[in-house]
Amino acid sequence: MNGVQLELLTSQEFVAAAFTAAIIPLGACESHGDHMPMGTDGLSAHALAVRIAEQLEHTVVLPANYLGMSGHYRHQPMALSLSADTQTRVIADVLESLHHWGIHRVLLLNGHDGNIPPIEIAARNTKIAHPEMSIATMDWWVVTNQRIPAGTFDVWEGWGHAGEAETSLGIALFPDLMQMEHARGQVPTTDPSVREFWLFEELTSYGASGAPSHATVAKGEAIVNTVVDYMVPYMRRFEDHGLSYNPQDEPPVQS
Ligand SMILES: [Zn+2]
Repeated sequence: MNGVQLELLTSQEFVAAAFTAAIIPLGACESHGDHMPMGTDGLSAHALAVRIAEQLEHTVVLPANYLGMSGHYRHQPMALSLSADTQTRVIADVLESLHHWGIHRVLLLNGHDGNIPPIEIAARNTKIAHPEMSIATMDWWVVTNQRIPAGTFDVWEGWGHAGEAETSLGIALFPDLMQMEHARGQVPTTDPSVREFWLFEELTSYGASGAPSHATVAKGEAIVNTVVDYMVPYMRRFEDHGLSYNPQDEPPVQS
């Protein structure tokens, strides 16, 4: 069989694999500074999805979506952006297609912040329409930030668009596309407790925020291992049973 990527499979291979779950990699096409490719978010999400699915039995990886909602990243050449409404429709239509073909367990593996609201709306609407579906989403940088050993990153905990963590991931996953001699970023001051709606040019004069020049292959491999090691057992339960929450009566109040 030609692996786990849907676009490489024939119909009979798809049927024979008896997939019970799917991963949708979601990216964007926008400047990631002068040191990373425009398609970074889709390249990263897809590569992580394939590495996870290759360790599973019945999970298929869908073609990466290289278009995202990138209106807030359009100050540097260049950005292709879907409106949030269009991106919501795209995600909802893909979920509907999976439902039609009996794949009711779906992980949206997101590589781009602008996709977060469309994912939420499409996933909520689809779950309400099809309660039998299990739908989850994860942003690779959230799993990374919560689970990578403290002290892995030098600056701003690795945060940033094309910053220390994302650049490290690029060096690890697609080194031939990286031009580290051009890596340059700025660290903005943002509030950690209140969500603020910036345009990217307000955060940095470059195409990158954070500290991409601090990126290394070892940090990128640490991100890959953190994400894959966490998500493989999660997805194993997911492809076997879907999501279940096993609610228990609350414990009695201690006097
Ligand atoms: Zn990115």
